[in-house]
Amino acid sequence: MTLIDETSTIPAGGPTLEQVRRVVTDLPGPRSAAILARKAEAVAAGVAHSMPVSVVAAGGGVVVDADGNSLIDLGSGIAVTSVGNAHPKVAAAVAAQAAQFTHTCFMVSPYESYVDVAEALNRLTPGDFAKKTALFNSGAEAVENAIKIARKHTGRQAVVAFDHGYHGRTNLTMALTAKSMPYKSGFGPFAPEVYRVPGSYPYRDGLTGAEAAARAITLIEKQIGADNLAAVIIEPIQGEGGFIVPADGFLDAVVAWCRANGVVFIADEVQTGFARTGTMFASEIFGIEPDLITTAKGIAAGLPLAGVTGRAEIMDAAHAGGLGGTYGGNPIACAAALAAIDAFENDGLIERAQQIGAVLTDRLGAIRENDPRLGDIRGHGAMIAVEFVDPETGAPDAALTAAVAKACVAEGVIILTCGTFGNVIRFLPPLSIGDDLLNEGIDVLATALQGA
Ligand SMILES: *Cc1c(COP(=O)(O)O)cnc(C)c1O
Repeated sequence: MTLIDETSTIPAGGPTLEQVRRVVTDLPGPRSAAILARKAEAVAAGVAHSMPVSVVAAGGGVVVDADGNSLIDLGSGIAVTSVGNAHPKVAAAVAAQAAQFTHTCFMVSPYESYVDVAEALNRLTPGDFAKKTALFNSGAEAVENAIKIARKHTGRQAVVAFDHGYHGRTNLTMALTAKSMPYKSGFGPFAPEVYRVPGSYPYRDGLTGAEAAARAITLIEKQIGADNLAAVIIEPIQGEGGFIVPADGFLDAVVAWCRANGVVFIADEVQTGFARTGTMFASEIFGIEPDLITTAKGIAAGLPLAGVTGRAEIMDAAHAGGLGGTYGGNPIACAAALAAIDAFENDGLIERAQQIGAVLTDRLGAIRENDPRLGDIRGHGAMIAVEFVDPETGAPDAALTAAVAKACVAEGVIILTCGTFGNVIRFLPPLSIGDDLLNEGIDVLATALQGA
């Protein structure tokens, strides 16, 4: 174990952190428990946590807590630390930038790293056309701005989002988000002119992509009218909603309809972006070229940064001063993003995401052969999920899902659930995890399932 100094027992984070699962106390252990007790007193109750620990270091495929427990990380802080926690390139870039300058406000006095990130996003996002980018702080803020831009460009107001969609926790993005608990309940009224239609959920709707698209488009035409519609926003693979992969032909049909009707098609790639799905962006899997793409999460290895990237003529619709924010494109976050993008492009992380996806789908598929409660296994790359069901009826089994997740947590595996019906376990490991830890994490899940 790498120690910060001789007197400290806190290991340094990053890839040199010992790559092992080691649970030496009940979770939480006494030190974490003391901090969590202070959390309960000091932090608003609405800010919940799923893992009862207080973290002191992380890197590779593990997270270490204050009691010395070393946990397998299958969540990446919700798809954020894809390059690995405390990645050396990122840590060095952040330290160097922090010593240079920490903030000027890009709208007051610009700097090069913001422009570098914009150029990288314009180059990396799908679509061989002139693009521009604006940077923000969070995924929700990026989504809000994508809608602002689409409305200004089209002169229209309505926005279509989909069943099972998740786009954030601000007012407009709550309106776009489908799930009431915990995201929306009691927090209304929500922003107007947001309409929801069914998308494509092959495991549950049994429709082809063309059929699902026709169903959505008919509803849009009849209930809203294309002339009133500024934008359609969708996650190419829905994240919080349950890692729902649309049937082939669905997304391209929706894109084609948008293009024919002057509607801005926005792909929310906040969770799917940056090598996560085994491609740089999930839109590539489906062969679509969105008009606008929102990014955040994996972009800067944990520093708060988000982007809207898209067709130059749409991005330029907003008047000077109409877009921005005090912190958007902060120089330290931009330095982190440039280091992370370097790692995505040059350290084989897209291939690594594909390998992780193969391990997860093979292992989970083998478990499913003897356990029909695993109703569906789906996803791409290092974004894989299992939907748990009652094998007799196919009904979602949220209780089983919660029990399995709880057992994994107790055994030192950070595991995340999702899904509109709460019956999905999702795997979002850092791309820096080794096969041994990944397999051990799945072993823990398999044992938990036997006991559940
Ligand atoms: C997480 C997420 C958001 C919101 O991002 P924040 O940074 O939490 O505001 C938006 N869209 C999708 C698809 C997400 O997964």
